[in-house]
Amino acid sequence: MTLEETTELRKIRRERGWAWFWVLSCVPAVWLVERAIHSNAATIAIMLIWATGFVRNVARVIFSRCPRCRGLFFSTHGSPTMWNFFASKCMRCDLPLKAARVMYPSLE
Ligand SMILES: [Zn+2]
Repeated sequence: MTLEETTELRKIRRERGWAWFWVLSCVPAVWLVERAIHSNAATIAIMLIWATGFVRNVARVIFSRCPRCRGLFFSTHGSPTMWNFFASKCMRCDLPLKAARVMYPSLE
């Protein structure tokens, strides 16, 4: 695995991690805004910001390209899809999202 592939795969993992951030932080953020400000307009604004961030982030993930085959990483048929969002390898060339751990012979 080349350095460029490792960098691109790290970027895909980071973007997928941000998707989890948007999902998991939405409810606490809305709850905090409701408790602190007591305004429906502020709650709606926070929801719009979170929805925008989530959609933008998910779009980045599903449109991410495999550094090896240059196809869409999570797509089996060439068009962007959400079905393989949690896949751990490229759907076309089986490039693993996480680099395999290196086991040095001296450590075995
Ligand atoms: Zn690939």
